[in-house]
Amino acid sequence: MPTRGSVLRVGITELRRRPGTQRLVALRTAIPGLAVTSARVPDDAELAIDLTLESVEGTAITARGTVGVPWVADCRRCLDVVSGTMVVEVREVYEAHPRDGETYPIEVDEIDLEPVVRDAVLLNLPISPLCRSDCEGPVPHDLPVTLPGEPLEDEHGDAPPKDPRWAALDDLNFDPS
Ligand SMILES: [Zn+2]
Repeated sequence: MPTRGSVLRVGITELRRRPGTQRLVALRTAIPGLAVTSARVPDDAELAIDLTLESVEGTAITARGTVGVPWVADCRRCLDVVSGTMVVEVREVYEAHPRDGETYPIEVDEIDLEPVVRDAVLLNLPISPLCRSDCEGPVPHDLPVTLPGEPLEDEHGDAPPKDPRWAALDDLNFDPS
């Protein structure tokens, strides 16, 4: 919910006075409510917003840069929690008379970065996250579970299904060498 006084509202009076000048904006703040069906940004997670604002011909402001954002999701196969961090590219334009769906509004003497950040994040959250690329989903209860350290192949050369809950352990290196 955009509010007056939000750190994401940036005054642009100086910027518009001198077309061609740039202003670096580096903000670290949480934006609650960033979620799609498949994934979400924790409400208290800090976003790393690094944008260059540039005044163009005194009539428009461009915002270019990146937004770094942590996300969490449920693996679409085994429903385990998956998390990660993504860096989203931002390239947007603010205008006094914005074109619907294309540019963002300049509000007299300031712009609100929140809708730009919000749109960029929502468009880039994972839509079908996997805990690992070869996740095979939950193991049926009647199949044996393979523990780390046990041979992965039986005498026929078939790899038995692995319990995805052990997947994280595969990344650990127990070998001291
Ligand atoms: Zn999974």
